[in-house]
Amino acid sequence: MERQEFFDQLVVEAAACVICERMRDRRAVLSHLNGSIDPRVMFIAEAPGRNGGDRTRIPFHGDTSGENFEALIKSINLTREDIFITNSVLCSPRKPSGANDRPNRTEIRNCSGFLRRLIELINPPLIATLGAVALDALKLVEPHEYRLREHAAKILKWNGRLLVPLYHPSPQVIITVRSLEQQMRDFRSLLRAISALTEIQERMRNKRK
Ligand code: SF4
Repeated sequence: MERQEFFDQLVVEAAACVICERMRDRRAVLSHLNGSIDPRVMFIAEAPGRNGGDRTRIPFHGDTSGENFEALIKSINLTREDIFITNSVLCSPRKPSGANDRPNRTEIRNCSGFLRRLIELINPPLIATLGAVALDALKLVEPHEYRLREHAAKILKWNGRLLVPLYHPSPQVIITVRSLEQQMRDFRSLLRAISALTEIQERMRNKRK
């Protein structure tokens, strides 16, 4: 089966998934709108937001977090065509009030099979996590000891590829933990990782000539 067919199958499975009790009525945010299956970088965030991915079906698009994210990728000259973006959980967790909520451990574990299969299928040379929840979710795919506070914006190795842990671009994080200017500086590390990988790929291409 071709990679695109595997991806399409995953989309169908995720759309039918009702494992998480409080997300039975939500639809998984996974489709061609998540980006290229041959990306320069795969982003993994926390969960689709009520006014963002869950509403628009495009992860990180339509709310303030999405605007911040789009400004951040633009700051290093990346477009949506260059990336694939998904979340630790594919559906949007809500508080009883209807507001966005963090996914709990059970929900992250429930969805880790989809995350594992997406990483295997896309096989990105570089992953960037957005926030501590996403960084921790990777431990269910392949254990690691990285912590966001210590390792933010560092170029690390994980599971046979590069990993750059970044902060989540939500307004709350930007106001209380990491400003947009600081996050733009963090994204320069991501650009350095992309440039290093491009150089390696070019060297390998030249060797084969
Ligand atoms: S979050 Fe993931 S595991 Fe939970 S219902 Fe949605 S697709 Fe299924």
